[in-house]
Amino acid sequence: MLDFEGDEATRQINNTGIEMTAYEDRLPSFTYFWDPLGNGCIVHKEEICPCCGRHRDHIYTGPIYTTVDVEMVCPWCIADGTAAANWSASFNDVYDVPPGVPQHVAREIETRTPGYDSWQGNRWLFSQQDALVFLGEVHGAKLLEESKAGKIEACLKALREWRIDWPAEDLKRVVPGGQAAI
Ligand SMILES: [Zn+2]
Repeated sequence: MLDFEGDEATRQINNTGIEMTAYEDRLPSFTYFWDPLGNGCIVHKEEICPCCGRHRDHIYTGPIYTTVDVEMVCPWCIADGTAAANWSASFNDVYDVPPGVPQHVAREIETRTPGYDSWQGNRWLFSQQDALVFLGEVHGAKLLEESKAGKIEACLKALREWRIDWPAEDLKRVVPGGQAAI
């Protein structure tokens, strides 16, 4: 099996004895956003990245907050902070960060983590000590079926911050991409 790490191709002799060299880049992983492909903010598409100028086979098309007129960037330029540095760009709204969350974590969410499109903007959520991992938008009906009080309360709280004061049973109205969404 070939092992890829960034741009460094790993050379390995395959079982026919022919030396193989692979130059494909493995997608970077993001600590707080595990499945950007599943989310759709990173898509499999050949493009020239407007930041690094490289020909890439994946591109990010989610929100980019910058004064520069760009609509996409490669995931590698997000992961290593190049896009944020070159364009003074951020990818997520980070505010009301609890005092126990280290500053470098908030910076990572803001500048080196993909964002996602949603109804109310992509405000990141935090626990008291750390950023939460973005797993996708909430399916309210599924949440009610799971019947986990802590999760339900967290969602109701998030809605109340948007001045939506719903009883728990109304969470079934929450669907990905809907209004409201969490
Ligand atoms: Zn790039």
